[in-house]
Order: sequence, then C-alpha cells, then structure tokens
Amino acid sequence: MQAFIPRPFSSGEFPELDSLLTLIRRAGSMLRSEVVCEVRARGRQLPVHCLELGSTDPNAPAVGFFGGIHGVERIGTQVLLSYMQSLVERLFWDESLLRQLENLRLVFMPLINPGGMLARTRSNPAGVDLMRNAPVDADHGVAFLLGGQRLSRHLPWYRGSADGGLQPEAAAVARVVEQRLQSHSFSLSIDCHSGFGVKDRIWFPYARTREPIACLPEVYALRTMFRATHPYHSIYRFEPQAHQYTTHGDLWDYLYDRSRASNDHLFIPLTLEMGSWLWVKKSPAQLFSQLGMFNPLAPHRHQRILRTHLTFFDFLIRAAISNQRWRPRGAQRDVMMESALSYWYGPQGSLRPATPKT
Ligand SMILES: [Zn+2]
Repeated sequence: MQAFIPRPFSSGEFPELDSLLTLIRRAGSMLRSEVVCEVRARGRQLPVHCLELGSTDPNAPAVGFFGGIHGVERIGTQVLLSYMQSLVERLFWDESLLRQLENLRLVFMPLINPGGMLARTRSNPAGVDLMRNAPVDADHGVAFLLGGQRLSRHLPWYRGSADGGLQPEAAAVARVVEQRLQSHSFSLSIDCHSGFGVKDRIWFPYARTREPIACLPEVYALRTMFRATHPYHSIYRFEPQAHQYTTHGDLWDYLYDRSRASNDHLFIPLTLEMGSWLWVKKSPAQLFSQLGMFNPLAPHRHQRILRTHLTFFDFLIRAAISNQRWRPRGAQRDVMMESALSYWYGPQGSLRPATPKT
C-alpha cells in the first residue's frame, strides 16, 4: 500500500479544496466522484463535488454529510475532510467497512460554497446566504437581518430575490438530497456549521416554526441511543433549531417538508452547530482574526475538533444501518412522541407536529 501523508490545512490559497482533490486521487475508483455544480469566484472556476461510497440499492439506508455552506465556517469542511480521509484509508484494509458498504450508501458534499470560502464570505459569490435561500417563510416574525432579509445582497443573511429560485449551490444540494438520499427507504443527513453559542449542538427542523416535526419520536430515539451508547461523549445539546432562533429560507426545512410528500421513506436532516464562542472565550485574540469567530485557531484545539465529531458520524452510520431495530412503531411510537414533546416542548406538550408547507 502506498504511503499517504495528509496535507495540513494551513498552506496554499485554498487548502480545503487541495485536500479534497488529494483525497479523490488517493481513493481512485473506490470513491465515486462527480462535479455537481461549478461556480466562478476571484477569476477561478471552482467545482462543487459530490462523493459517494457504497450501495445504490434503494432498500439500503443512506447517510449524507454536508459542509461548507457558509464560506467562513471552514472548520465544518475540515471536520468532514478529516472523516472522509479516515474512511478512505479504511477502504484499503478494513473488512468491516467494506461489508457495511455493501448495504449502505454514503454521500458527501464537504465543500458546498467554494466561492464563499475562497473569498472568506459567509454568502456565495452572488451575496446570497445559502441557508436562507429556500422558498420557505417563517411562521412568525424573525430577528431583523439574522432571520433572512431581501433588503440588499450587501447586508448579511440575504435570501436572494423572491423570484430568483435556488442558487446553483443550493440547487445542487437539493438535487443530491432528493436523488441520492430520499430515494432510499431510510436516510439521515448531517450538515456541519460553526459560530453559534458555547456548546456543540445537534439541530433538527424546524427553523421556520416552533412547531415540532413529524419525525420527533425518531429524533428522540436517536438522542437517547447516542447518550446511552456514548455516556462520556455527552457534548451535544439536541434541540429543534427554532428553540434558538427562527429563520426564513432554511434549506433543511424545505427538503424535509418535500420528503414528506411521500410516505415510503423517512429522511431525518440534522445539523451539527459547533459552538465556536467557547474557542473565542479561551483565546480572545481570535476576535481580531478574520475567521476567528467561526474557526479554532489554536493547533491543539483544531486537532481536537477534527477528531471529536468522528464518534457521532460513526454513530449515525450505525444507526442508519440498524434503523429497523430502533425505529419506534405503533403504541411505542406514541409513547416516544409524548416523551419527546414533554422533553422539548414542556410538560403540557400542547404543540403537535406541523403540516408540510411546500
Ligand atoms: Zn453556518
């Protein structure tokens, strides 16, 4: 086997894209690689890749890994590249992984907004925030600007024009999710972000409303299993995104609601929101760095974050493979719904799952 030394993320004009291309070359024909969209930024034509491993049988479960939607949140892309590197190396020797992939599809879009990352902007090159761009309006008022705005592309959290449709990067994500995840009887996704709060959070829809999602019992089961299986890894707060703030245009709200049009599959979209304020608290000098609010700058912290979340990614894969064993059904599901409503929405549990708004 050829020796492989991963490139550090700290060199070159675009180290994440360089690392991704190196990974693709390293994996060769074992990894299916496709450029699903191209964007132009700073005089360069940049690819948006979709990478895949494993089975395409619709009866096999599928897990999608997404990152780099916001160009300044480089750590999300780096965490996924770190995980992909581990998987690619295991392809060369790990019989258990090869067996898993016979009945599992893994889909990766680790660098969704390369134009924003190259230019060090949250938005894409058109000035649009890709996580405010979906045709979904929040039920109630949202925080000024943060909740998504159509005032100007020069202000943050710009949704794009009302009749502009999805931006090319967001449309590519939607195509990949609908064709490569929601085509399976069961699928999960995790989208990696950073920048909110001091704690790492696992968010799930909705962002547009405080009403619960229909698959709340399944999310509650996942949370319960993760905490029981990894009691010393309880770093995450699982919660609906709307518990923190509501927004217009959330892409995962949109894709989740669309998936509910059909009853023959279950799609659970999760978001990993890494709590970068803690990194700033520990190293206040980060505030003076252009990317410091969203990325760990201390080398030891950076390395720790690159390995910390791999446990959760592995958990998601095992949960997807074993979904028939743990998904609550019948009366058990009703009990799980009551527990989940009580846990996230108070003892009265007065709110009930929302109907799709597509
Ligand atoms: Zn983000």
